[in-house]
Amino acid sequence: MQNAPPQLAKYPMIILHSSPNLLFIEHVRCLMEENGFHCQIRHRELFGSIALESETWPQLLLTDPENEAEARARLQEILSADPGKDSGKEWTCFNCRERIEGQFTECWNCGYSRR
Ligand SMILES: [Zn+2]
Repeated sequence: MQNAPPQLAKYPMIILHSSPNLLFIEHVRCLMEENGFHCQIRHRELFGSIALESETWPQLLLTDPENEAEARARLQEILSADPGKDSGKEWTCFNCRERIEGQFTECWNCGYSRR
């Protein structure tokens, strides 16, 4: 019997969250790892490609399905506590008219704050 390497889990990994913003997913992954949940990011390599369908967004995967309930609960806490949470809707910068993804509260172009 050979043990499969950890990255080749025999169970399908659970998609905890996805976002068109890779930095946001990386941020959430760090927080989850700090809480003891091992996660991977899928579709990292697709980030920045033209396709923006939600299926191709970077995904945060939980590598240990046994912890799914706990991980989802913790994720909800993280998402609701984070002021940069994935609120979804794009918005248009009042100052420079740049289109900004929903999880950002400041314009990356000119620094205007939505709040
Ligand atoms: Zn702006």
